[in-house]
Amino acid sequence: DTTLSPTDTVVLPSPAGAAVGPATLQARAVSAWFGNHKVLERVSLTMPAGQVTALIGPSGCGKSTFLRTLNRMHELIPAAQFAGEVLFEGEDIYGPARRLTDARRRIGMVFQKPNPFPAMSIYDNVVAGLKLTGTRANRREKDVLVEESLTRAGLWKEVRDRLRQPGGALSGGQQQRLCIARALAVRPRVLLMDEPCSALDPTSTRRVEETIHELAGEVTIVIVTHNMQQAARVSDQCAFFLAEQGTPGGIVEQGSTERIFSTPEDPRTADYVAGRF
Ligand code: ADP
Ligand code: MG
Repeated sequence: DTTLSPTDTVVLPSPAGAAVGPATLQARAVSAWFGNHKVLERVSLTMPAGQVTALIGPSGCGKSTFLRTLNRMHELIPAAQFAGEVLFEGEDIYGPARRLTDARRRIGMVFQKPNPFPAMSIYDNVVAGLKLTGTRANRREKDVLVEESLTRAGLWKEVRDRLRQPGGALSGGQQQRLCIARALAVRPRVLLMDEPCSALDPTSTRRVEETIHELAGEVTIVIVTHNMQQAARVSDQCAFFLAEQGTPGGIVEQGSTERIFSTPEDPRTADYVAGRF
């Protein structure tokens, strides 16, 4: 049950009905390998419902890999191995009865490089979010979801009169917000963002941060960022990852963003947040 197939369809929760709203994610003793190379060692982290958790730390310490294990995206990499548990509202997304598409539908993802389908219309890009997770919707439901998702991503006003134009015609920052809208189209309860602003200019970065602020409370957000000011601006809690010479990555220190920045307990955290490595 690790590949998407046309039979992996789920019924779209009705707007008024099914449980929506932010969910708590809990990683327990998550380890990961690429072949024989162990890149994460028993990482445990609770990401509370509706909060924004920032994953910080130097390149190569396993932040992206950890993020991917939270919605089983690492399974797309053939050599990737996983051990541990990821609890979604207390239920292991790796449990034998859990379907991959179910995890993907409830846990959306946005990547560093905006990756809309460039030739596809803005409207169809958002709808593609449903297709990627095998979610069915009729025409009217799609119209509602497209407007809702683009509004939540802060892009509706800019594109409402040009929904048939290709996604590739938008600016880089707009493309990233289109990708956020695509991820939101399935009404995920958790949104994973891997350095979503690294490829954006400061104005676009600010717009994405505004979107994060708007979504906070409604969606649980986990964001990887190299930008310490950004972590301080957008997150409620921070987890500082480190992979010391020849060892797999792990969390050195975690806590409220305010505390991590004001009174870090570990000298390595203090050095990192102060920009000393
Ligand atoms: P970060 O996001 O913190 O920079 P990553 O999770 O991308 O770290 O990488 C952690 C480790 O896993 C690094 O040593 C990296 O080289 C390795 N790695 C990442 N992706 C792959 C992959 N697809 N195949 C093999 N090794 C990988
Ligand atoms: Mg990364």
